[in-house]
Amino acid sequence: MEITNEQLVEILKKHHVRVTEQRLAVLKAVMQTNVHPTAAEIYEQLKGYFPSMSLATVYNNLRVLTTEHVIVELRASSDSARYDYFSDGSQHYHAVCRVCGKIVDFPYPELSDVESAAARLVHFHETSHQMEVYGVCDECYRAGKVVAAHHD
Ligand code: ZN
Ligand code: MN
Repeated sequence: MEITNEQLVEILKKHHVRVTEQRLAVLKAVMQTNVHPTAAEIYEQLKGYFPSMSLATVYNNLRVLTTEHVIVELRASSDSARYDYFSDGSQHYHAVCRVCGKIVDFPYPELSDVESAAARLVHFHETSHQMEVYGVCDECYRAGKVVAAHHD
């Protein structure tokens, strides 16, 4: 699904984030994929289009977008932080591969009332939630890269 510049600008404005060319490109890089890119991966993808852009610029933009709750920083894997965008009504959860660090989306609507439970039981406001399941992805599993200790 192609995301238009108008949609990107609208999202930034809704969050009262200043619009710059590079910020739009960074947001688009997070939104248009479900691989949950790292800052370095986004930098690799964009540097051809923005020759003056540095990795630090990408980090700065990701920080602004995270602080203003436009995107979410995922600290699930042991390597660098990965980033994700949740559009309205697209709540999903993450399966994290302990071997390759890949993060895969999956739906689990049964968990949707966990926030109302937090509100009801411990009176929390403005709630949000994330969940990670850790394991070995099928690719790593089939390649025999399972790291768990096996005793023959
Ligand atoms: Zn894997
Ligand atoms: Mn995701």
